[in-house]
Amino acid sequence: MPATLTTPPAEPISMPAHVMACPQCGLHVDLPALGTREEAFCPRCDEHLVSIPRSPVDGPLAFAWTSLILLLLACSFPLLAIDVQGNQTQISLLQNAETIYRRDFALLANVLLLCVLLLPSLFLLAIIYLFSGIKFVHRLPGMRPLATLAARVQPWMMVDVFLLGAIVSMIKMASLAQVGFGLSFWALLGFSLALTRTGSLIEPHWLHYRINLLHGTDPTQRQTGPTHGCHTCGFLSPASDERCRYCHATLYARHPRSLQKTAALLLAAIVLYLPANLYPIMLTESLGRTTPSTIVQGIFLMWQKGSYPIALIIFVASVFIPIAKMIALGLLCLAAALPRQVHPLHLTRLYRIIDFIGRWSMVDVFVVIILVTLVRMGSLMSVHPGVAALSFCGMVLTSMLSAMSFDVRLLWDVQQPASTGHKYD
Ligand SMILES: [Zn+2]
Ligand SMILES: [Zn+2]
Repeated sequence: MPATLTTPPAEPISMPAHVMACPQCGLHVDLPALGTREEAFCPRCDEHLVSIPRSPVDGPLAFAWTSLILLLLACSFPLLAIDVQGNQTQISLLQNAETIYRRDFALLANVLLLCVLLLPSLFLLAIIYLFSGIKFVHRLPGMRPLATLAARVQPWMMVDVFLLGAIVSMIKMASLAQVGFGLSFWALLGFSLALTRTGSLIEPHWLHYRINLLHGTDPTQRQTGPTHGCHTCGFLSPASDERCRYCHATLYARHPRSLQKTAALLLAAIVLYLPANLYPIMLTESLGRTTPSTIVQGIFLMWQKGSYPIALIIFVASVFIPIAKMIALGLLCLAAALPRQVHPLHLTRLYRIIDFIGRWSMVDVFVVIILVTLVRMGSLMSVHPGVAALSFCGMVLTSMLSAMSFDVRLLWDVQQPASTGHKYD
């Protein structure tokens, strides 16, 4: 089927005409030759297939270097400062993780280190490595697996969610103490923006095409005979191959046991969500008195204090999104398993929404981490993490894994069923 183009073809041509497998619905799409600033969409499910930015190599390189420098600055200065009756505390990004480790909440510290520091650093280094190789037309070792790894890491980077957590924490504390943002906060804000821009400039299909050209193979050449579509790079390999010959990913007609994995992880998320709401997520110690508060109690408290935007943010992130996501995943599993009445396009759009919003649920976890680190003044005022923070964090991670395990192509199998005897896409 021919692809939908946003603009008429323009010179110079950056990618020749070829067939691409849609990563979402699996349709094999005939792409025309694509020039700079052109973008192609799947004619069946509207999925963005590939676009060629104005500077497809220098753009990602410039933003990746900028992001790395801003990350170094963000780690070098104080992030937030608080003053309670003359007692001043400043915290840095790394202090957050260290303090949480000391309180025996290693899972939270690992999530913070991984999602805010390590995975973004790994992603940026991989991008600099890959695009330097492309820019200087030099084949570097491990380019294919590194390109796949960079794409897999992207959904787990949560610098923007952490920043929202920092803002919520500061507003929460504003009525009790003098609070202020340090230099690191502004560096982190710049880092978040530059990182988001770097991610938006990466086109996995185009990246794999250029890497293959460096290896002396042209993945856009027409294949004769039956073919597999690769879910990772979108190019077609002969049906007899077990692995994609262009990115080396394993080829499947559909992800093995996709529905079972999605349902099992969804069940785990539902189970974890119960203690996350029943037990306190945070304990506040003030003048010798300890007050535990659950997620819902925290929302009511902020509402009563008149902090309506904060109450709304926490309600949406911690109550509305998790519940909506769990219901939607359950519906998608049912729709994929049973004869369905709903058009697959509507279900695919629902999947895209829950896949996009899921990670924002982590806001409350970051708020707890920041407040625990920031408010440490003994019996005068201290904040301690509650056990619900662990189960809530586990719920967010399992629900994200559940959404990632779901093979959207199952929704389209009524229109184009997968062969049972032979692998194909
Ligand atoms: Zn599609
Ligand atoms: Zn591939």
